[in-house]
Amino acid sequence: MKYISTRGDKTERRFCEILLEGLAPDGGLYLPVAYPQVDGATLARWRGLAYADLAFEILSLYIDDIPAADLKALVRKTYTAEVFGSEAIVPVRRLGDSGLMIEALSNGPTLAFKDMAMQLLGNLFEYELARRGEQLNILGATSGDTGSAAEYAMRGKQGVRVFMLSPNGRMSPFQQAQMFSLQDANIHNLAVEGVFDDAQDIVKAVSNDLAFKRQYKIGTVNSINWARLLAQVVYYFAGYFQATKGNSEQVSFCVPSGNFGNVCAGHVARQMGLPVKHLVVATNENDVLDEFFRTGTYRVRGSAETHETSSPSMDISKASNFERFVYDLVGRDGARTKALFGEAIARDGAFTVTPAEFAAIDRYGFQSGRSTHADRLATIRSTFDRFGDLIDTHTADGVKVAVERVEAGVPMIVLETALPAKFAETIVEATGRQPGRPAKLEGIEALPKRFTVVPASVDVIKAFVAEHCQD
Ligand SMILES: *Cc1c(COP(=O)(O)O)cnc(C)c1O
Repeated sequence: MKYISTRGDKTERRFCEILLEGLAPDGGLYLPVAYPQVDGATLARWRGLAYADLAFEILSLYIDDIPAADLKALVRKTYTAEVFGSEAIVPVRRLGDSGLMIEALSNGPTLAFKDMAMQLLGNLFEYELARRGEQLNILGATSGDTGSAAEYAMRGKQGVRVFMLSPNGRMSPFQQAQMFSLQDANIHNLAVEGVFDDAQDIVKAVSNDLAFKRQYKIGTVNSINWARLLAQVVYYFAGYFQATKGNSEQVSFCVPSGNFGNVCAGHVARQMGLPVKHLVVATNENDVLDEFFRTGTYRVRGSAETHETSSPSMDISKASNFERFVYDLVGRDGARTKALFGEAIARDGAFTVTPAEFAAIDRYGFQSGRSTHADRLATIRSTFDRFGDLIDTHTADGVKVAVERVEAGVPMIVLETALPAKFAETIVEATGRQPGRPAKLEGIEALPKRFTVVPASVDVIKAFVAEHCQD
């Protein structure tokens, strides 16, 4: 399989060439030249497979520059019951007779779905860096979920170091404890005296210094990474097999969305031939995506217009993976995609697709809806009262929208993107009770913490990286 950019550069690259990269050189995102097609016979064969073996089958359709035996070993090492809490890895459960099901993607080390992809990425990075004899220093900024998923994926990995910036004193005590209790020598937590945007600006400034970036082998693990998206395609298949008895049945998925990475993996699965009727995009008050699917206008928001909500991992001002879907929507026309994302967004902060393009959305099965803090509280409460099932705030946004979209005879699978333990304050507000915690995370707030407080200064961060990147 070869990969090309969404903005018209047709230079073909292989999987391991784009594994450690972010954007394509022309500013676009990487996509496969075509989606491999899966027929009924293949689905029938895959239905009985263990999660890791299913992952191997799907990944091998997209990766031809890692020997099969090595790829199999990598996925088997990644998707274990020990790391993900059950043999099913992503168990599906039913919400009574509502027609809704929940697929649990959040039983990994950091209790959020980002572990599903990040754990594989850690093993792929270690493998590829060893093969090249190279090192990589990952620099990132986090307000919570992404940073901890990256640290738990990269801890102890050969050839990789993580420098993770977070706003000092602004994460929840639980999130802080999750990250700062890691004692691994290759993980560096830098608590920046400032807000999240300050931390992110520093990462951008360092990444824009190309000489520094090259000298110190700086890389990132952000959500536009193709390998992350590919890893997520697997659980759409795994969820489908659990929710159906035969391969002629259809299901729909409802996906709590921010950067469009998760639901874009669903789009890829559907394009491969998985019988998915609808892909329902659920947003919170930050409804950039819902607005697009309702109106055909995609309008990015400024920071003043970006709401801080009780489903914080969906608080985005623009959806960084959305360009991948639009490229398919406009008939894989790189010039058109460039005109929309490279030009209109840069100039006006918005674009509107043509009526014909808007009409084509139906063919891709997309629907959308939005949810608010009041909806979240009501949904967490009613899901607990009716079904005895305690869900987190992001999953609640999904359930709220799924209830509006569920159709008779078509199971609606809501992706559970985090566990309630991570957002205890809102759970208490909704139900009056404290969410339980997996045993391994009891009392983590009391563990010794390893972090360095730094001023919001690009030079100080650069000096820290330079000093610690030989450790
Ligand atoms: C990151 C995240 C999301 C949003 O996923 P995208 O891929 O950015 O759309 C939703 N819920 C949780 C808990 C997350 O961590």
